[in-house]
Amino acid sequence: ILSFQFHRTSSFGAKTGRVPVGIGRRRLRIVVTGGAGFVGSHLVDKLIDRGDEVIVIDNFFTGRKDNLVHHFRNPRFELIRHDVVEPILLEVDQIYHLACPASPVHYKYNPFLLTSTSEVYGDPLEHPQKETYWGNVNPIGERSCYDEGKRTAETLTMDYHRGAGVEVRIARIFNTYGPRMCLDDGRVVSNFVAQAIRRQPMTVYGDGKQTRSFQYVSDLVDGLVALMEGEHVGPFNLGNPGEFTMLELAEIVKETIDSSATIEFRPNTADDPHMRKPDITKAKELLNWEPKVPLREGLPRMVSDFRNRILNEDEGKGN
Ligand code: UDP
Repeated sequence: ILSFQFHRTSSFGAKTGRVPVGIGRRRLRIVVTGGAGFVGSHLVDKLIDRGDEVIVIDNFFTGRKDNLVHHFRNPRFELIRHDVVEPILLEVDQIYHLACPASPVHYKYNPFLLTSTSEVYGDPLEHPQKETYWGNVNPIGERSCYDEGKRTAETLTMDYHRGAGVEVRIARIFNTYGPRMCLDDGRVVSNFVAQAIRRQPMTVYGDGKQTRSFQYVSDLVDGLVALMEGEHVGPFNLGNPGEFTMLELAEIVKETIDSSATIEFRPNTADDPHMRKPDITKAKELLNWEPKVPLREGLPRMVSDFRNRILNEDEGKGN
C-alpha cells in the first residue's frame, strides 16, 4: 500500500470551510482508493468514526458495496465508481491508496498494480524481514506482475518524493485477515475458514510447512493511520510477527470452527514464498505501533462474519 499525503493541508481547510473536529484538529477530507474492499472499508469506518469526510473511489473489481452500505446516509461519506488507472481530480487533504486486488488468484488476471506489500521481499533469504532487505523476487515468475509492480510503485513514489517534493508514505503490508474478506478470494485464511464452515476439507498447498504471519485487519488500519499521521516516509513493515505454518493454521481453524474438520493436500503454486515474518522494530520505534490482536483472538471475529455471509449465500442472496 502506498499512502500519499498532500502538502499544504493547513490552508485548505479554511478554503473549503471545513469545521474543526474535536479539540485542536480540523476535519480532513480524505480519499480512500479501494475503500469498498476488505482493508479499505475498515479504514473508512475508522476515519468516519473519528469525524473526517471520506470519499471512496472503487471500481468494484474485488470490493463490494455491502462493505460500505452502513455509511450511505452519512453526509460525510461519498462513493465514486471509478478505476484508478484513469485520472480523477479531487481536492483533498490526504489520500490512502489501497486500490489493488491483493490475492494471487485475482492479480494474475489483471497485472497492473500501484501498491506495496511484503511481496517485495519475494521468497526471502533473510528471516524475519527488515525494511532494509532488498528481497528475492523472480522477475519472470507468475507472481512477478504483483511483486515487481509493487517494487516499481515504491520506486516511483520515492522518485516523486525526492524529485517533486511530494509528501509520501509507504507501508509494506503482510498477510491480513478479518471480517469482510472476499469469500472466494483464494487466500489461505479465507479458504480454510470458508471450507471448514461448509464442511469441506481445508486445502493445504504443498507440504503445508511454508509459513506466514497473519495480522488482524484492525491492527493494520491502526498502523496505516499512524503512518499517515506520523513524520516518517517509510517503508514500514505492517504485520503481526506471529508466524505459523499452513498446517498450524489449519489446526487453529479446526479448533475454532469444527473439531472434525479435515485437510486435503494440493500441489503448491509456483514461486510460493517459503517463509514470511515481519521485523517490526522500525514501526514500533518510529510509529509507536504494534499489533494487538493475536490469531486465536482475531479468527473467531472473522468466523462469525463468514458464517453469516455463507448462510446468506446458501439462501440464494449472494455474498
Ligand atoms: N495456501 C494453502 N491453501 C489455500 C490457499 C493458500 O495452503 O487454500 C497457502 C499458499 O500456498 C501460501 C500460503 O497459503 O503458502 C499463503 O497464501 P495466500 O494466497 O493466502 O497469501 P500469499 O501467498 O500472498 O502470502
